[in-house]
Amino acid sequence: MMNKKKYDVIIIGGGVGGLICGTYLAKNGKTVLILEKNTKPGGYCQSFERDEFVFDAGPHIIGGCNKGGLLYRILEELEIDSRFKKSRFADRYRFGNDLIEVPQDIKEYKQLLIKRFKDEKDNINRYFKILFSISYRFLNDRRVNKEAKLSYKNFLDAIIRNPDLKCILNAHCGYIGLRPDNLSCLAMAIMEWSYLKEGTYNFVDSSDNFINAILSRFSKYGGEIILNEEAEKIVLAESNTFHSVISRNGLVYWCDKLVINIDPMKFCNCIAQINELGYRFLYYLNKYTFTPSFLLAYIGINTTEEVEFISGWHYNSYSLKDSFYKAYYIHTKTNRQKEKKSIHIIKFYSDKHIKAESTIEVRNKWRNEAIIIFKNDLAQRNWKIKTMTFADPNTLEKLTNNRHGSAYGYSMNVKQAHTNIFNRLLNDRGIYFVGHWSTFGGGIVPVAFSGKTIANTLIQNSNT
Ligand SMILES: Cc1cc2nc3c(=O)[nH]c(=O)nc-3n(C[C@H](O)[C@H](O)[C@H](O)COP(=O)(O)OP(=O)(O)OC[C@H]3O[C@@H](n4cnc5c(N)ncnc54)[C@H](O)[C@@H]3O)c2cc1C
Repeated sequence: MMNKKKYDVIIIGGGVGGLICGTYLAKNGKTVLILEKNTKPGGYCQSFERDEFVFDAGPHIIGGCNKGGLLYRILEELEIDSRFKKSRFADRYRFGNDLIEVPQDIKEYKQLLIKRFKDEKDNINRYFKILFSISYRFLNDRRVNKEAKLSYKNFLDAIIRNPDLKCILNAHCGYIGLRPDNLSCLAMAIMEWSYLKEGTYNFVDSSDNFINAILSRFSKYGGEIILNEEAEKIVLAESNTFHSVISRNGLVYWCDKLVINIDPMKFCNCIAQINELGYRFLYYLNKYTFTPSFLLAYIGINTTEEVEFISGWHYNSYSLKDSFYKAYYIHTKTNRQKEKKSIHIIKFYSDKHIKAESTIEVRNKWRNEAIIIFKNDLAQRNWKIKTMTFADPNTLEKLTNNRHGSAYGYSMNVKQAHTNIFNRLLNDRGIYFVGHWSTFGGGIVPVAFSGKTIANTLIQNSNT
């Protein structure tokens, strides 16, 4: 069956990247259709219910929301009425029994570090000065200075001497899923800018609320979305002036331009005819590596007590070597009914792809470990576990189609820093990429930014 309407743009995938891109396009008068395979939009950024608890499946910590911050400006431009609450601390890092509560104000954070590491005062100031100049230059005019080309470890070693201080500055590394010797300094700089400079926030209620706020704006501007509609095949017209997308349900949709918000490898292997995309594209695609996935435990407890204090990074000790293989990030969240809390424990691995070892045995072992961590941490409290459910890379892959449940798409290692050229390669075919496979720096803020950038490109091109 054929949908007679021809859209200016069809977006395949309704993750944050696709939704933000679609909303900018719709606001600027383009006819836009988003096709989303799931019954809900949002991709990783969605919530689910188990018993009487609401859990956010993936993201919890959102950067860039201080007034004037990257995400703040996007939401303001699109008039998206989304509420976030600023967390009390930018983060909490635990190294054994030592706890560091990172203040939201960067000046206070520097003072805290200087108080602990007096001899490193000048180095601490220099560290932040250079780190933030790297991000500022890149985010403002894509300039990359010489430090940005280093691995994060080399950058750290060149400035900081104290090994414990290095562990603290390094503590966010696990978000990106790479060890510091493999992680691009540019990626770390962009992430720290977003969290430490532009504020660390949480969703109010749930990530579904954030997605619904974007969706409501998208629809108000005239955008259309069809849920439960998986794009199965695209046909590229020879003239490159229009494309058709055929869905799993057998429907055909027409458009001028295509925006892809899904894993490009899945797009290439399943949806597009490979030879039509050209071998240059394939050559680069095959070279790119992607970020690891997570093992996740979602735990619901009944308590009226304050549970936020256990959130943050839990490292076994001050040791760079161990920590990246055994870092646990624990999110806590209060549900609408105040007496119920949900806790979300994530196990991060570094370069190792969890998928490779994600056998039933490994998953069972992790379940047992999660239960032990949880019980140890909370042994003194009388908190009763009411609900416990788990996700692994396979669950995440099923949810979004990201290969091996890759958490942030395109890997931010030194080799790949700033080299992603998908958008340039398929531009002349009218195909563009948004989301975490298309942009440097994974997570909600860069993904939203990629949506804005591609929408602006399409709008400018159509005006010339
Ligand atoms: C456990 C976890 C925790 C995280 N925590 C944080 C955090 O705290 N802060 C942060 O900023 N980031 C976090 N991230 C990363 C962040 O969630 C992602 O980078 C971001 O949500 C990716 O958005 P996206 O638009 O690229 O696409 P995705 O979320 O990957 O969405 C892609 C969409 O495309 C749809 N789709 C796929 N194939 C098709 C098809 N053929 N047809 C139609 N639709 C299709 C999928 O169903 C999905 O809805 C986390 C990720 C994970 C997994």
